[in-house]
Amino acid sequence: MSIYLYNTLTRKKEKFSPARPPLVRMYVCGPTTYNLIHLGNARPIVFFDALRRYLEYRGYPVLLVQNFTDIDDKIILRAQEEGEEPGSLARRYIDAYFEDAHALGVRPATVHPRVSQHLEAIVAMLEALLEKGFAYQVGGNVYFSVRRFSGYGKLSGRSWEAMQAGARLEIDPRKADPLDFALWKEAGPEEPGWDSPWGRGRPGWHSECAAMALHYLGPEFDIHGGGADLIFPHHENEIAQAESYTGRPFARFWLHNGFITVLEEKMSKSQGNFFLVRELLQRFSGTVLRFYLLSTHYRSPLDFAPEKVEEAGRAWQRLTALQEALASAQAVPPADGVADPLAQAALAYRGKFMAAMDDDANTALAIAGLFEFVRLANSLLAQAGQVTTTGLALAARTLRETAGEVLGILPPQGGQASAAVPNASLAVLIELVLEWRRQARAQRDWATADRLRARLEELGVVVEDTPAGTRWRYRTASAGGDSA
Ligand SMILES: [Zn+2]
Repeated sequence: MSIYLYNTLTRKKEKFSPARPPLVRMYVCGPTTYNLIHLGNARPIVFFDALRRYLEYRGYPVLLVQNFTDIDDKIILRAQEEGEEPGSLARRYIDAYFEDAHALGVRPATVHPRVSQHLEAIVAMLEALLEKGFAYQVGGNVYFSVRRFSGYGKLSGRSWEAMQAGARLEIDPRKADPLDFALWKEAGPEEPGWDSPWGRGRPGWHSECAAMALHYLGPEFDIHGGGADLIFPHHENEIAQAESYTGRPFARFWLHNGFITVLEEKMSKSQGNFFLVRELLQRFSGTVLRFYLLSTHYRSPLDFAPEKVEEAGRAWQRLTALQEALASAQAVPPADGVADPLAQAALAYRGKFMAAMDDDANTALAIAGLFEFVRLANSLLAQAGQVTTTGLALAARTLRETAGEVLGILPPQGGQASAAVPNASLAVLIELVLEWRRQARAQRDWATADRLRARLEELGVVVEDTPAGTRWRYRTASAGGDSA
């Protein structure tokens, strides 16, 4: 079975496989840290965490980069209002982000780069864009010349006319074209700034993400994610810069989640109709909120109302009740040649769960399958003498792996979480050893190459040299997921 994901760039579901198997390189636009996150901000964070967990479950270690935009006009404005240093305000909200994300069962990304620590990479990219003629300088500002990039509009599918209208035609005499966007902004005397070849200033938002994604993942990485409101202009502008800079495709798959609405209006700071995660956590557990968010497919709109979370909370209790029942049920020893109905139900459910997740990470369908299993398992547990120890163990394990490790919607339990999941930092180290081995092979140092391969094998890493390059996998992880 293959994984299919809906790619905004091609407007269709496409078969997914990483460019450099088994490692999946993924970038998700993170929050601008000038306030607490609301539920609309939480949706992509929770969804991409679940997608990452599923990819890992399928044997793909994920190198996930999720940035913090800690340099931004909104941060400067907010800091002025609060009489605080912009840097300290941003740090405060980064800490708050980690608290809220933890409550929602979101695992930290492999790397959480901050713009303030990546000025060098950003400036280097802008210098190259100027040198190649994709950008121009006006005073202390640098702009990207949109007309120079022929692929402009390919992600959003917008025509020049529509994009022009979208640019709100702000009359800025410094820009050659209204669609041109700022790569670098001159800092006012009271504003925070960093030294650059163009004077004291700060990078534009679109440059930050493009430069940090390339810095950690390189070109042609596998998945770029974010909310649908980022498609234009943010992601369109990331593509324009990154592809002009490297001359290669930027991200292979673009995934975008739908909005959360309140009474049919998009939940947003500017509309004032937002619910802070922190406020909701006083009423609901983080696990129930996560369950509620994942109960709708990520591309569908999700209309929020507190009663709907309450309803989700009641459904969720049936799930935890089954988990407890499986832990305490009476079971008979397995008999030869007699199929255990609970074991069969668990296997059938795992198949449905994977089919749903393979189909564009359809967590809604996966959860529907989960509740079918809950009903069936409850009725089997109610029949005395039906359930064997094998069936019980398999049902508990299936529940733990699907609802627990992948969806993250079982109650948190000490220590059981991600011990069995391949670790992305480890994958990066393996890549490093393989890079060393490639160099040895290039110098015809076969002894070193063989020794490195043998040592990796001892550690459970299988290395295969194929015509398409060297591939590797963990010996114990089953990419088919049929380890039951
Ligand atoms: Zn971004």
